[in-house]
Amino acid sequence: MKKPLLTALSAAIVIALSGCSDTKAPATSAAQSDVVAAAKIAIDDSIVKENILLQDFTGPYEGVPAFDKMDLDLIIPAVEYGIQVELAEMDAIANNPEPATFANTFVAMERAGKELSNVFSYWGIWASNMSSPEFRAIQRELSPKLSDFSSKISQNEKLFARVKAVYEGDEYPTLTLEEQRIVKSSYEGFIRSGIMLDEAGKKRTAEINKRLSELSTKFSANVLNDEENYVTFFTKEQAAGLPESYLNAAAAAATERGKEGLFAVTNTRSSMDPFLTYSDNRELREIVWTNYYSRGNNGDEFDNNAIIKETLELRHERVQLLGFDNYATWRLQDRMAKNPQNAMDLMDKVWPAALARVEQEVADMQAIADAAGADIKIAPWDYRYYAEKVRKDKYALDSDEVKQYFQIDKLRDAMFYVAERLFNFKFTPVAAGSVPVWHKDVNVWEVTDATTGDNVGLWYLDPFARQGKRSGAWATYYRSYTTYDGETNVLSANNSNFVKAPDGQTTLISFDDAETYFHEFGHALHFLAADVKYPSSHSGVRDYTEFQSQLLERWLLTDEVIDQFLVHHETGERIPDELVQKIKNASTFNEGFKTTEYMASAIMDLKYHTTDPSQIEDIQEFERKTLTAMGMPSQIPMRHRSTHFQHIFSGEGYAAAYYGYMWAEVLTSDAAEAFANAPDGFYDKEVGERLVKYLFAVRNAMDPADAYRAFRGRDAKVEALMRDRGFPVKAED
Ligand SMILES: [Zn+2]
Repeated sequence: MKKPLLTALSAAIVIALSGCSDTKAPATSAAQSDVVAAAKIAIDDSIVKENILLQDFTGPYEGVPAFDKMDLDLIIPAVEYGIQVELAEMDAIANNPEPATFANTFVAMERAGKELSNVFSYWGIWASNMSSPEFRAIQRELSPKLSDFSSKISQNEKLFARVKAVYEGDEYPTLTLEEQRIVKSSYEGFIRSGIMLDEAGKKRTAEINKRLSELSTKFSANVLNDEENYVTFFTKEQAAGLPESYLNAAAAAATERGKEGLFAVTNTRSSMDPFLTYSDNRELREIVWTNYYSRGNNGDEFDNNAIIKETLELRHERVQLLGFDNYATWRLQDRMAKNPQNAMDLMDKVWPAALARVEQEVADMQAIADAAGADIKIAPWDYRYYAEKVRKDKYALDSDEVKQYFQIDKLRDAMFYVAERLFNFKFTPVAAGSVPVWHKDVNVWEVTDATTGDNVGLWYLDPFARQGKRSGAWATYYRSYTTYDGETNVLSANNSNFVKAPDGQTTLISFDDAETYFHEFGHALHFLAADVKYPSSHSGVRDYTEFQSQLLERWLLTDEVIDQFLVHHETGERIPDELVQKIKNASTFNEGFKTTEYMASAIMDLKYHTTDPSQIEDIQEFERKTLTAMGMPSQIPMRHRSTHFQHIFSGEGYAAAYYGYMWAEVLTSDAAEAFANAPDGFYDKEVGERLVKYLFAVRNAMDPADAYRAFRGRDAKVEALMRDRGFPVKAED
């Protein structure tokens, strides 16, 4: 299947970005169909016996990945064999002399590629949970091969002819809605990839794709270079304002770089952000800020300006071959937004409110600076610093005090409680050692139906930060729920980077981290609650896949969770109401800054991909002019400036689609209001049933807009998001 195939590859290959992903190669475990089996006879399969990565999962719970037997030496032969088999399978489907049917074309494609799918379960662990320079070298070696492989399938004309025959044939109206959606998406995917082009067009498309993949690899490498090579050192005398925990880490970072006795701010968000929040030293703040926001824009061999220009030109050329005006129009066809205008309309509704809010925030900060006799005008490197002072002043929220009530194990129990109330799932730890894991900190639970006791699947949890693990938090799965070849169970996983407490102590996390914990669990529930027939129905729609997980965050501060699980780690006392109220009051704090920095990047992305690149002479000038036209406040930079905007230039995943986070948040806020207004609130049985049925179980087997309407009885309204962020809302009609 072209679409999920490409999704899987991009998830595996593209450098992991901050934030989270929920995509994975569709796994099938059933027997191969005749036509596919015949194709494999010609291939020597003796390698499968020795290569665990290619083998079907064995052991308990319908089979589990052999994470305890992974060996890097196995990966290149496994991927090469997997590619060979899948291409043979696809050719066999394409060359089938029988007339095309859903069964002999689509079901056969769903079954194909089982070996490669098995390999990618392990690949994902190496790429995200235990990366190494050795693995990254293998990744670089295999990337072009995988790119050629996906081109071969997306340009297979005989295969497309069969897809088209089913789409336009008499069988189509007799198919189920899920099957029709798979056929239609596949057909449109082939068209979008240029299957209708003549030979010259196809050749040029392949060339463009190859060059784009080189450019995106270089783009990421340049950003990484500027993150590693700009370090700001400072002395004890310059450390005023910085918390002890930050200084400990900064001292270790300096020692690592041969500067014992000094402190180091590295050029990454996790190092920069707290420095700018707490450091009293304004000159250093400016240096740190400038280094961070100049990544990829230093006029040296690691400069990304020319790469951006060429990337935009090639993307434009490719979609012009396909008859589209611009890249964004082409890209958004199968998204919820459908076209760039709809995405921009959402931005236009929220942007003025965000700007108005920034004005208030800056005024509050300026007042504090003036009162302290600072004699400054708030600059971008002052924003986080004075915002923190406003937070203490206005909301009196001590994040360390909050932490005492957020125990990692209790929060996990809280998530299980929510899962049982809403989804009727029960979580039970598996017997120690019965399911292989890749690290001793990884634990596994069995998920069952709380009423029948039937197995639903497994949930793996890899909670703690360590060397070689990518930053952030994410969810994934190693097997998805399907019924087309017999019912399968689900192997789901959550991963995060909490800092582990010393042995014998309880790990405490911040409120933000607790929200992230719930967020990722929302992705896992989305996998576990699936009720679809085919693997393809698990592929996500980019501006929709964050919605379910964002929504689950809302159960963290429900009374049921607060009363039972937010208890002090020493005294066992429930968190005081005043503290909960402070957390709630502070929830809209600094939303002007957060919304504006995010939206500036989202709007820039849409502008880049709706403008004819011949009109863009100079990237820096285009960025400046666009921001000026938007009325961007001088105190705030784009969250990702162009030369380090990896979401859109380190691959195509979020190109013309960075707006998708906000699109999903509109749905989140609106759906949360449906619960808030229900008779039994967030645990209302009737709304909960609709939630599971229309928003979780259907996955991508139904158009997301239709699914949302079935849940809510109408489309989502942006006003709910404005209320959540504390922005003024015009009276609703
Ligand atoms: Zn997410």
